[in-house]
Amino acid sequence: MKPVYVLGTGQLGHMLRQAGESLGVTVHLIELDSNLQTLPVDKSVITTEIEFWPNTVLTRKISKSSSFINHNVFPILTDRLSQKKLLNDLNLATVPWAFLSCKMQWPQVFSNLGQRVIVKSRHGGYDGRGQWHVSPDNTNTLPDTLYGHCIVEKNIHFSNEISLIGARGRNGATAFYPLTHNFHENGMLRTSVALLNKNTQQSIAEHMLSVIMHKLNYIGVMTMECFVVSDGLLINELSARVHNSGHWTQNAASISQFELHLRAILNLPLPTPVIHMPAVMLNLIGIKPHMAWLSEPRLHLHWYNKIVRDNRKVGHINLVDTSPIVLSRVLHSLLPVLPVEYANYILWARNKLSQQ
Ligand code: ATP
Ligand code: MG
Repeated sequence: MKPVYVLGTGQLGHMLRQAGESLGVTVHLIELDSNLQTLPVDKSVITTEIEFWPNTVLTRKISKSSSFINHNVFPILTDRLSQKKLLNDLNLATVPWAFLSCKMQWPQVFSNLGQRVIVKSRHGGYDGRGQWHVSPDNTNTLPDTLYGHCIVEKNIHFSNEISLIGARGRNGATAFYPLTHNFHENGMLRTSVALLNKNTQQSIAEHMLSVIMHKLNYIGVMTMECFVVSDGLLINELSARVHNSGHWTQNAASISQFELHLRAILNLPLPTPVIHMPAVMLNLIGIKPHMAWLSEPRLHLHWYNKIVRDNRKVGHINLVDTSPIVLSRVLHSLLPVLPVEYANYILWARNKLSQQ
């Protein structure tokens, strides 16, 4: 089997490498400024764990190589403007939005989208970075250089946020996980819950993501984040990679999202993963490791070995058990060993589990 090279060296890359080990697939993580000599481009399968990369000798070389899976897709999906246009062309519902190219547009923007909007940089934002909450009295807080390089969206009310993670193989076959329920705070994912019961949203969401993946002739795992509103689902954004909201699959699915991605890009069988149990994922953000967590046998710790900084994702915890009641009790028992803000996330997750 060809070796896999992953652009980027972050935690998603490491988790792809771990998944490769059990399949006997060698996964190398590559720095963006790596020496080209060390990368046998034509004899490898290249994928990415990051969505936006600078123009380096390496990225220029691989961006046109057929070994770099989906190389034609990244320019479309990593620019919020072309991503939104694609969704609109496919008649898939999104939040009302506009391209923001100059200050003169503001009166029209507020009249079309309402008085509370979110400006999002076209490239490179993540975890809520590269976003500005704007109303008519603070448009001057936006950097001048942003115009032409951002879109603006209506700030909507939604009842829930969900994501669908799916994969498409080279032969066009697809596989999906159950919808994941997500809780964000300040633009950052805090916790996810995956339940076993599939509802009607599942087939609607699978249809939407299938349309997108087939249109792009996409290979690998793709993630679709949606807002749930009274009219149905609005697509928030797409990621052409494995996703934080799919981390629960490492411990509660027969095939994790990382393995599923490797299978798809290596043209290996792509059956629908079997989900064994409901699961909860808690992101560990800006906190030091606490070995007392390991006293709980249902807890799977995934620690990224990164320097702990405020607002930095440094690990995650997966909790799985066949009983949602037990899971809920375990979540409650973690309150004393997690920072006080986790009380909110735990409350939200316990509430979701009660719907199982
Ligand atoms: P990610 O970390 O998933 O890459 P991101 O930084 O790319 O996130 P978004 O997913 O666009 O950014 O936004 C982050 C969160 O901010 C969303 O999950 C949602 O909670 C909130 N949000 C984004 N857009 C809107 C909107 N138009 N109206 C209301 N809330 C929004
Ligand atoms: Mg997002």
